[in-house]
Amino acid sequence: MAKNILENELFESFANASDNIYIYVCDMESDISRWSKNTVDYFNLESEYIEGAGAKWMEHIHPDDRALYLKDIEAVFSGKSNRHSCQYRAKNKYNDYVWLECKGSVISGEDGRPLVFAGLMTRLDNQNKYDPLTHLLTNYEMQKYDFSTGSGAILLVGINSFRKINNTNGFLYGNKVLIALSEYLEHLAGKNDRVYRLQGDEFIILSPDGSKSELRKLIENVNDYCMNIRGLKSFSVSAGLVSYPEDGTDFNTLMSNLEHSLEYAKDQKQGWIAEFSEKISQRHLRASRLHDALTQSIHNHFEGFELYFQPILETKTQKITECESLLRWKTPEIQDATPYEFIKLLENSGEIREVGYWVMEEALRHAAMWQKKYNNISVSFNVSYIQLLDGEFIDKLITKARELQVDPRLIMVELTESCNADDTKMLSCQFSKLQKLGFKIAMDDFGTEYASFGLLHDVSMDVLKIDQKFVRGLVRDGNKTDIAIIENVVNMCRQLSIQTIAEGVETEEIQEIIRGIGVSYLQGYLYSKPVPAHEFEQMLINQQESQSV
Ligand code: C2E
Ligand code: CA
Ligand code: CA
Repeated sequence: MAKNILENELFESFANASDNIYIYVCDMESDISRWSKNTVDYFNLESEYIEGAGAKWMEHIHPDDRALYLKDIEAVFSGKSNRHSCQYRAKNKYNDYVWLECKGSVISGEDGRPLVFAGLMTRLDNQNKYDPLTHLLTNYEMQKYDFSTGSGAILLVGINSFRKINNTNGFLYGNKVLIALSEYLEHLAGKNDRVYRLQGDEFIILSPDGSKSELRKLIENVNDYCMNIRGLKSFSVSAGLVSYPEDGTDFNTLMSNLEHSLEYAKDQKQGWIAEFSEKISQRHLRASRLHDALTQSIHNHFEGFELYFQPILETKTQKITECESLLRWKTPEIQDATPYEFIKLLENSGEIREVGYWVMEEALRHAAMWQKKYNNISVSFNVSYIQLLDGEFIDKLITKARELQVDPRLIMVELTESCNADDTKMLSCQFSKLQKLGFKIAMDDFGTEYASFGLLHDVSMDVLKIDQKFVRGLVRDGNKTDIAIIENVVNMCRQLSIQTIAEGVETEEIQEIIRGIGVSYLQGYLYSKPVPAHEFEQMLINQQESQSV
């Protein structure tokens, strides 16, 4: 009997239905049950077939939910009910409780005896009352809160660069950071406060009857704390604050105002905490307006986008040998969006991929035009890390360069962001394919990311661009730290046969200092700002003429 019931093909097909649905079927005469493989794995069960599973499964159920479960299941087994349906928390293989909705029914034989008990459990991921990782209340719980009566304040805390923390140190390390912060927030929170974990790296402290200034005071030392947690590298957080009813009287409005405040705090670099204000609201409106216009431009065949070019000079000869392509964008209505502003919007929406292909093609087109006319001028263009994730980028670059007959040795890709260890493997693989064909790879903004050195270790680079922040402020007899940093970077690069470019050369004085250190190439306003293609070309013409004199 058991064999027939438990080996049913129907079971097999249901068992593979979905990752968060768990199937079981029990032969009630022998009390042997079969559980789908994902159940065995996720809940760490002893095997696919279990005798007397009832008691064993009970051990997985949260002690607070056992009575409810028992009542329901006993009604089924005693024949009082032929349907089992309840929600409870069960412990998974990570020792976390997750909410399940468990539904089952009994099939009886002709004589009325119960034969089979079968059913499925659905994991209610977004309906958990408690977050399995931090055991804080969830977003789902917060949505149930009634903000329309009474008054209070809400704090939203987000970890800065959490994606990078995760990427650089791994998922489990990221979890430790989340747990440490959640424990601290819970420790800070007052008796009447509620602490929630939203998705990802965001936490809420909701203070009924509290005020923004009280919450601000409560959290004031959070960053000191985050810098000194035993066993963890230092990290930092930003925060947004709202109060109700002033800033909203429903969950959605308050959350969206909180998110905008947090975004503002993260971007401002001055002050890590921001109270919602009219200014923040306006800023968000501007971002939405820019984003809509950007999408429109992309649809209109990249209307409004243009590449500017900034000369790069060889230190030894002071001649322009290269240039960097820099993206510009404006529309009749929007004339003042900076590259930092619109590129961030494109990166956030993922549209940077499409725009990135356009940039690549434009850069290659100009390189093709200039390579013969002006004695092998190289052209570099910027690539955000997310542009490389789809794996097609490299092949498209190779194909396009062949199509336009550009010498790959004249093309340099500047990687603007760091990335995680798994992806460095992928990057190093993709880059070496390019390098074999002669393309050059540069690491941009060296020194601004704490993962810069790691990337240098894993990916072979041809060029390293020393970030402006070390260069722009240089004065003779001034701060020795920046000079020491540049000297060390240049020495290291020399040993690794990597060439160096100093960005942000704004004055003669900086030029002399940089030259003294032995940086290979110079870029900065001292020579020229980024200019449209025809102006850059004019510089090349002038240079050619002065050489032939
Ligand atoms: P970046 O790659 O570090 O580019 C250098 C930035 O420094 C440019 O800003 C340039 O105009 C500016 N700059 C150059 N010399 C000097 C100087 O002497 N002093 C000062 N103060 N600034 C100087 P820009 O054009 O505003 O670009 C900003 C950033 O936007 C770029 O920084 C790059 O990260 C990003 N970007 C620009 N074009 C693209 C693109 O096509 N794709 C991607 N993914 N990012 C891009
Ligand atoms: Ca760059
Ligand atoms: Ca740079």
